[in-house]
Amino acid sequence: MLKKVDHIGIAVKDLAEAMKFYEAMGLKSTGTEVVEEQKVRVAFFPCGDSEVELLESTSPDGPIAKYIEKNGPGIQHLAFKVDNIEKALAELKEKGFRLIDEKPRYGAGGAKIAFIHPKTSFGVLVELSERD
Ligand code: ZN
Repeated sequence: MLKKVDHIGIAVKDLAEAMKFYEAMGLKSTGTEVVEEQKVRVAFFPCGDSEVELLESTSPDGPIAKYIEKNGPGIQHLAFKVDNIEKALAELKEKGFRLIDEKPRYGAGGAKIAFIHPKTSFGVLVELSERD
């Protein structure tokens, strides 16, 4: 079902500042993008076969703003690449695991994404991501 670690999502307060850090370490961003539905501005930094995703809230009531309020900035989710997200979700549901998204939604870069509830995945917010 899982093909690789697709990316690690990191909640940041200031995207521009956080980007400077990853650039200083030699990574290059593929650009920034606002995902309106999630009230976030994101930047992806490919690193080998995986990527780092930085997420900055565009609104004080967005999920990332709430996450930072509760936990402080830091690792917010772990994303795995899947080939067929609908099939993966159906399989997990059938096995009795708790999903946040029963149907995929669209994330940055037009990826189809869905989250698994952290209560099911031992405290880690797991994202499944299907993209080319
Ligand atoms: Zn993500």
